[in-house]
Amino acid sequence: MFGTGELKVLEKATQIAEEVTTDHFSLSSRDWARSPFFVDTVSRTNRSINCPQNVFAHLVYFGKDPGKKNFPRERNGYYKIFVNDPKIIDWLKNRPGYGLLPLLTYVMTHELVHIARFLRFHCHPLTNIKDKEEEVVHELTYNILKPVKMDGLYPILEYFNNSERRFSHANL
Ligand SMILES: [Zn+2]
Repeated sequence: MFGTGELKVLEKATQIAEEVTTDHFSLSSRDWARSPFFVDTVSRTNRSINCPQNVFAHLVYFGKDPGKKNFPRERNGYYKIFVNDPKIIDWLKNRPGYGLLPLLTYVMTHELVHIARFLRFHCHPLTNIKDKEEEVVHELTYNILKPVKMDGLYPILEYFNNSERRFSHANL
């Protein structure tokens, strides 16, 4: 599971992903307030979330819950991104050419693009991996991250720039 160091990297990746997604879709802080998201790892969560073992991350929407009146963000509905840390660690172990920050940046940007497209165009974010929406989100993630300067990002982008991989074990 992710330790303190990896969780810091996840935080950084989330920050970058939020920045590039906000820019690309011209989102305001009000937009994000309407669709808040929280990030957690599969290892840290006690809740049974039915995260498929094979995915890098799993996006879940928690609907409005008027009972949570002390937690306005949760009361209005929110997303939770569960990062599948055991799978990510395992995947990187056998691939010395790939780094954690670029991989997490790709994963987080992909999930935030799902949320942004739902906000903007009502494209349903909780898709089946074979859906057209998945292909569109991968394509957008690629284009959004292409200009970003980060060591090791290029190999990750190229890895996912392949529809076989997008639709097989690397589903997001
Ligand atoms: Zn996806």
